[in-house]
Order: sequence, then structure tokens, then C-alpha cells
Amino acid sequence: MSAVIQQQEHKQPRYDRLGNLAMVMPLPQDDSQDELQHALRLSGILQTTLDVSQLIDIFAHEIIRLVDYQSISYTQDELGIKHSIGNSAAHSCTYRLVVSGETLGELVISRRKKFTKAETTLIETLLCGLVYPLRNALLYKKAVEAAHKDPLTGVNNRASMDEVIDREVNLAIRHKTQLSLLAMDIDHFKKINDNYGHAVGDCVIKAVAEAAKTAIRSSDMVFRYGGEEFLILLSNTDRDGATLLAERLRQKIEETCIICDGTHVSTTVSIGVTCTQRDSETRESLFARADAALYEAKSGGRNCCRYQAAAE
Ligand code: GH3
Ligand code: MG
Ligand code: MG
Repeated sequence: MSAVIQQQEHKQPRYDRLGNLAMVMPLPQDDSQDELQHALRLSGILQTTLDVSQLIDIFAHEIIRLVDYQSISYTQDELGIKHSIGNSAAHSCTYRLVVSGETLGELVISRRKKFTKAETTLIETLLCGLVYPLRNALLYKKAVEAAHKDPLTGVNNRASMDEVIDREVNLAIRHKTQLSLLAMDIDHFKKINDNYGHAVGDCVIKAVAEAAKTAIRSSDMVFRYGGEEFLILLSNTDRDGATLLAERLRQKIEETCIICDGTHVSTTVSIGVTCTQRDSETRESLFARADAALYEAKSGGRNCCRYQAAAE
């Protein structure tokens, strides 16, 4: 396996010149035993976490003893990671971190004064200690995310819901905020499968998940709970807010023309809505009311939303 760190020093923002130079793990020379000690210590410390941000923090904290810098910023687009320490300055070195042909992201280190050749060589040596722990941390993050995602729709899966719901109910009770839960089920979905086939059915499930994802705020969460059933958790949202969102979502799905491999399909959903009401609220009581509200929406003719309040 080879670690390649591509580096280019430049004044910001000349990122276009990135990647002209390829370096492979230069070790410190005889006169820099101290640096070698630090590099060894660093690689030991970097083994202590699998959290990407923590890893970058440790790296930044450790190398400040060796290289004077003002900011370090790490970006990994695929996983949407952007972690920065300090404020960026005029002179920066940008490193594209690559291990065995796999790009791990980009790290930018900056300061007011130009970096010397000796400093950039040292930074490259230190980065070589970072890349393998970083690759492990990224693999771990990907594995954790995959375990919580539904592969068809990309929304959170049922296992993830089970982990989140108790915490959210407890938080809502503790902070005296309202948590709303929407239970959404596609209407007559069996007919879609029967009429158009399973692949089109899958495509409809994806389109409904997409509509839900775009309807919510970043603090809210969508879960695929069963075949064509979704749960939507809305933090800090009361009855009015939740029923408004449910109705908007229902309408949006009704109006969407879903195109699956050239086949045009339309569908509707029924939505049951409820929200936390008292300190004794539990995941079970919240689920039961959302489910009862969904049942009401189904028996009320489908393609509608119903709210279920807790009994007095
Ligand atoms: P209702 O309006 O009462 O909800 O009627 P429905 O036809 O939607 O009834 P139901 O909820 O019982 O049907 C769910 C169907 O979804 C049954 C199952 O074959 C199908 N299904 C479950 N998972 C998947 C999936 O991943 N892909 C596809 N294409 N179909 C699925
Ligand atoms: Mg259904
Ligand atoms: Mg169903």
C-alpha cells in the first residue's frame, strides 16, 4: 500500500494548481530526531479515535508544536465532511490525501507567512501519520451510516428509528418542547406492484421518500419503517406545525407525476399525525396514536391526514 500526499503551496484561493506534486512518505533526516519522536508520538495518538473530526483536532493540536500555522481545514465531499480549526490566512498548502488510489479528502493548512521547504516536508511526513487512521475513521463512518440507512431510498432505516425515538421523546419531555410523529403509508400500493411490476413499485417508494426528505427541515428525520411505510419525526413541532407539514406533503405527492423507466405513475398517501403531550409519553404511546391516526386516514377514504390526540 502506498500513501501519496499531493501538495502545492500557493496564495489563496489558487486551488486550481492543486496536485502538481506527488510525495511519498519522506522520513525526517538525522538532525531531526525530535521531529521523528513527534511523528511517532503523533501516529500513536491518532490511533486512539475513529471519529473523523476528533482525528483532525488531534492532528492539529499535535502538529502546532512542530509547525506554526493559523488554520487547518479538512474536507471530504463524499461524506459531506468539512472540519476547520482557526481562521484561514493568505498562504496555504493544500494536500490531496490518497491511500492506495483512494482519495481521502483534502487538507488545507494556512498562515500569514509563506511556508518554507523544510516545513512543507515536515508537514508531509506528519500527514503520512494521519492518512491510515483517517482512512480507518472514514471506513468506520461509512459502515455506521450504511447500517442506519435504507439502501433503496437512502433515508434512515427501522433500526435507526429504534435508536433515535427514545432519545427524542426523552429530550422533548426534558426540554418541554413538542415532538411530532407522522406515520405515512402509500395508498393501494399493492395495485401499483400488480399493475406495473415490482421495479416500478420500488421507484414509487423512492419518489415518496424523496418528497418526504425535501419537505422537512434538517433537524427532522425520515425513516422507512416497512415496505411502503414511513415515519417522520419532527422536533420542536406542535400539532399545528405537524398537520400543516403533513397536508403539504400529502398534496405534493398527489400532484407529483412519477416517471419510472418511461412509465408515468401517480400515487397518494395517507398520513397519521400525533405529538407528545405529557411527561408520561413513551415511544409506545406516541407510535400507537400515530398508527391509530393513520388507520383513521385509511378508513376515512385515504389520500388524507388525520390527527390523534392523547385521551384526557
Ligand atoms: P393501503 O392503501 O391499505 O395501504 O393498501 P396497500 O395496497 O398499500 O396495502 P399494504 O400496505 O398492505 O401493501 C403493501 C405492499 O407493499 C405489499 C408488499 O407486496 C409491497 N411491498 C413491500 N415492500 C416492498 C418493496 O420494497 N418494494 C415493492 N415494490 N413493494 C413492496
Ligand atoms: Mg399501503
Ligand atoms: Mg402498508
